[in-house]
Amino acid sequence: MPSVIYDIAIIGAGASGLQLLYESLQADSKKEMKILLLDSGDRSSKSWCFWEDNEHACFPFLVEKSWDKMAYVSAKGKTIQTDISPLKYQYISSDRFFTYFFNELIPHDQRVTHLKKWVTATTEASAFNTVHCDDGDTFYAKKIADSRPKKSLDSKLIYQHFSGKFIDFVQPILDESCLTLMDFSLAASTKEMAIFHYILPFSQTKALIETTVFTQLPYDAQAYEAIWHTYMDTHYPQPYQVISTEEGTIPMGFHADTNTENVFKIGAAGGFIKASTGYAFTRMHQDAVNRAQNRPTHIPRRFRFYDQMLLKIMKNEMNRIPEVMDRLFSRVPTKRILQFLDDKTTLGQEIRLLAQLDIPLFLKHLFR
Ligand SMILES: Cc1cc2nc3c(=O)[nH]c(=O)nc-3n(C[C@H](O)[C@H](O)[C@H](O)COP(=O)(O)OP(=O)(O)OC[C@H]3O[C@@H](n4cnc5c(N)ncnc54)[C@H](O)[C@@H]3O)c2cc1C
Repeated sequence: MPSVIYDIAIIGAGASGLQLLYESLQADSKKEMKILLLDSGDRSSKSWCFWEDNEHACFPFLVEKSWDKMAYVSAKGKTIQTDISPLKYQYISSDRFFTYFFNELIPHDQRVTHLKKWVTATTEASAFNTVHCDDGDTFYAKKIADSRPKKSLDSKLIYQHFSGKFIDFVQPILDESCLTLMDFSLAASTKEMAIFHYILPFSQTKALIETTVFTQLPYDAQAYEAIWHTYMDTHYPQPYQVISTEEGTIPMGFHADTNTENVFKIGAAGGFIKASTGYAFTRMHQDAVNRAQNRPTHIPRRFRFYDQMLLKIMKNEMNRIPEVMDRLFSRVPTKRILQFLDDKTTLGQEIRLLAQLDIPLFLKHLFR
């Protein structure tokens, strides 16, 4: 019998692993849990954004900026600006998130053992489960939550690539109360890539402006850089300074392998990235809350079906995505779209929403 059997071993101290750590500590009213956190130590910078209402607030003490106005800009340049309250669009930087966990929470909570390790495998057995590391170490736990990404992803997946910059304009030109979720007005989309720009204004001068690309093609840093500069030249000719850059890729439409009750995948590896949008933060949080209470997370199948429909259109007619989005945002209130993308609408609301879309286009791909 091993000398220590942890209640849970969490593999990966990224967004999902740390959310689960936090929620497990919160749920442990007797303060007796033993949690093992194993991580490679490789932590890249990210901006995590999500929308939520106050009732379902997710790490409110880490939110650095909130917006209650959201804009959508159509391919023809028409802006639809909406007050999304009581929802808020929230921004948490990974720097703030990691600082909280690694400098404040973990060092002061004796229930947590945090080790820098590269995990190679897990094995499940009836008494306890085992985590194997590349240095030969093994650890034992009643449960294992694993956020290691899948080694190779399906080449048929759609990816959301983004290439952005945090910039500081010389003059105060931005409306810091309104973020732009999607701006399709730069006509850069092609049969293989749907391209839009995403703008988070942090103040009247500072913003994150990102070129976002849905495609099956690999990341093309040079091409995205050129598109970003064209967007800036045409939309923001005012002088600015680049503070830092952010780039990344989110696989869309990937579903996790089957979990067991005691050894399960979390985060991106667990299929918690919303297939059609790439958003994951609040879904991973809901899963963390559920897992901490020993419940699996159930996402109704019909939402996976809607995601698959949109992904099929992307795969076959990517150049029509700006048109699909224009139609959606011009006919359906933004708040309802956000609720739909959060899998929180009722079937009746979904039917009314889908009826506003290009039905022949969706039917064509439904039967493909
Ligand atoms: C650049 C970027 C921006 C994003 N922005 C948003 C956003 O605004 N809103 C949103 O909702 N979603 C966003 N996402 C999607 C999603 O929220 C993130 O990808 C999120 O980080 C996924 O969390 P995770 O825990 O699954 O993976 P990660 O956060 O990547 O964490 C995985 C951890 O596991 C560790 N690890 C990996 N392999 C091993 C191993 N073998 N042994 C030990 N440790 C290992 C890694 O070092 C890492 O610390 C973004 C994704 C990217 C890439």
